[in-house]
Amino acid sequence: MADTHLPIHPEAPASDLWYSDGLRFKCTQCGNCCGGGPGYVWLTLEDMTRIAGFLKMPFDDFTRKFVRKVKGAYSLVERANFDCIFLQRADGKATCGIYPVRPMQCRTWPFWEMNLQTPAAWTHAASRCPGMCDLDAPKYPLAHIEKCRTHPESPD
Ligand code: SF4
Ligand code: SF4
Repeated sequence: MADTHLPIHPEAPASDLWYSDGLRFKCTQCGNCCGGGPGYVWLTLEDMTRIAGFLKMPFDDFTRKFVRKVKGAYSLVERANFDCIFLQRADGKATCGIYPVRPMQCRTWPFWEMNLQTPAAWTHAASRCPGMCDLDAPKYPLAHIEKCRTHPESPD
């Protein structure tokens, strides 16, 4: 593993990034990132439009039922147990009920800026996401990682 203190520098050549050789990831469907505790699944306008279309719901009906306003931004509502409203648990597996149109935040996990700052940050995130420490998982190339990293995962 590369130097655990090597930070990301936006101007750094891609070859200098600690994850330039790619990163392994394969979701195990444990559901840790979709529930179990309070959190926010931020939504862009495009996310909301796509999900409403997928559910064949008028946009306003969709937002009334599934969206809450938080800090001036929009997030999916949670169940009483803090699971995402679209998380489905069965037979020990967690699946997403809107997987083909899941929000940008979900589609870009785990290649978020905060997880890519250092190898230590990646390892820390992996402590709750078993898919990030599967040595047999497929390796995602740098181009894919960077594409995900540069999408905002929250409105902050
Ligand atoms: S925490 Fe990781 S392995 Fe578990 S459901 Fe989320 S992405 Fe998949
Ligand atoms: S939208 Fe789907 S992938 Fe995203 S948190 Fe909810 S259940 Fe998980």
